[in-house]
Amino acid sequence: MTAMEDLFALQDEDVLMGQLKYRRARLPEADAVRAAESARAEMSAEEGERQIERLDHARRQNRLEGEVAAIEVRLAELDQRLYGSAMTSPKEATVLQNEIGSLRRRQDDLEGQILEIMETLEPIDARLEELAAAASDADIGIAAAQKSLAETEAVIDGELAGSATRREVAVESLPDDVIARYERNLPSFGSSTVVRFSGTDCNGCPYSMPAMEADRVKGLAVGTLAECSECGRLVVR
Ligand SMILES: [Zn+2]
Repeated sequence: MTAMEDLFALQDEDVLMGQLKYRRARLPEADAVRAAESARAEMSAEEGERQIERLDHARRQNRLEGEVAAIEVRLAELDQRLYGSAMTSPKEATVLQNEIGSLRRRQDDLEGQILEIMETLEPIDARLEELAAAASDADIGIAAAQKSLAETEAVIDGELAGSATRREVAVESLPDDVIARYERNLPSFGSSTVVRFSGTDCNGCPYSMPAMEADRVKGLAVGTLAECSECGRLVVR
């Protein structure tokens, strides 16, 4: 194997590493993780909204129940005064009965409102339960997608490491000036930075070398590094 075969080996590894990095940055497994996380975020957002909604109703229910409890205390007091041991005049009894009647109507009204709130809460609670179950499933899905992504990344990282090692071996056996020329041309020509001499032309571009230049390259020893006079690529005789 001539030194220039190592230059092709170096280029092969650069091409391979470029492809692997490109693939690693665009894994469908990563899309799956993002999709699962975004669906999960939507669930969390809805859950948050429903919780706030629920809290508003629950606060109102609490307030109404407090009022009902206060009415019950007051009713017990009035009952005590009406039917207790203390004497009440008929007039006083009428006043007490009127207040009792009005408090009972208020209590009925409040209890009706509480019932309505409870009916409103029912579907919200059902939805919250659904969301909790879906979120738990989604978390399992995210974990599975992340695991699958990590596994694929690990495989690619292994391939990248292997390629880096082979590149290192190629670099070690190449003269520094050849590597420098290769690296200077790499940004312009990428995977065809170094090409073979076809016998008459550069294999990297569609142009024809002038006959004199082609003859000159032909005259070089096999394995010599030349440059295409047309495109500037490194041409290995
Ligand atoms: Zn060329």
